[in-house]
Amino acid sequence: MPEGHTIHRAAREHDKIFSGHCLSVTSPQGRFANGAARLDGQKCTGVEAIGKHLIYRFEDGSLLHIHLGLFGRIRKHKLPLRPARGAVRVRMVSAMDAIDISGPTICETLDEPGLLSLKQRIGPDVLRVDADPSRAYQKISKSRRAIGHLIMDQSVMAGIGNIYRTEILWRQRVHPLTRGRDLDGATLERIWLDARNLLEIGVKRNAIITVESEKRSKGRYRENTNIFGKAVCPSCDGAVSKLEISGRRVYLCGNCQVLAGAN
Ligand SMILES: [Zn+2]
Repeated sequence: MPEGHTIHRAAREHDKIFSGHCLSVTSPQGRFANGAARLDGQKCTGVEAIGKHLIYRFEDGSLLHIHLGLFGRIRKHKLPLRPARGAVRVRMVSAMDAIDISGPTICETLDEPGLLSLKQRIGPDVLRVDADPSRAYQKISKSRRAIGHLIMDQSVMAGIGNIYRTEILWRQRVHPLTRGRDLDGATLERIWLDARNLLEIGVKRNAIITVESEKRSKGRYRENTNIFGKAVCPSCDGAVSKLEISGRRVYLCGNCQVLAGAN
């Protein structure tokens, strides 16, 4: 499952290459043939990400809604184009650029009311400038569920995936099993701001980098995290332990992240 920063990065790139251009839209695999025919030949007027959803706007007001899910893939191609390989659900081609989207969980056309209802189902997205974090704070502060669950629940707040979850909670010294209602507003705001800061770095660098710049390594991917996948806490040298929350592994340091409000 891509974390939110990869979807935002794709949206920014596709907006740059497609916005203002007429697109040929086809469904080489055939499963989106009717939708593609509706969009084919129209000018794209913008591309944006909402959580892990991609929205492509077209000049007649139609929207293409994509969610890659676990197995979806986007491939960018150079022109001249070769015939699509594999089960390509939708192919979009401008005079200069082309992308193929394969295996998405959602590939549908949408209208503005449909987009509005999608936005209401998704929590505020840490990477969107129009996000209202108070929607997330309200849900979290009423919840008995663990913060490690809540910040990855896309209906509470959107964008944070598994690695960021571990890293943000460690950076903010919050134990992942702390109940939402036991966290104060200042802590929630710190979590939100840190998520925004780290995911924005992720979009720009196309990698999950959660260590401070002077500690960044150019080596392997995991070397740019603090405790995810590590055995020793870089702050206190204590042992890193593991938990499972929402079916995914969370790493934590029991010294640095004390469980608050337990009773
Ligand atoms: Zn520690």
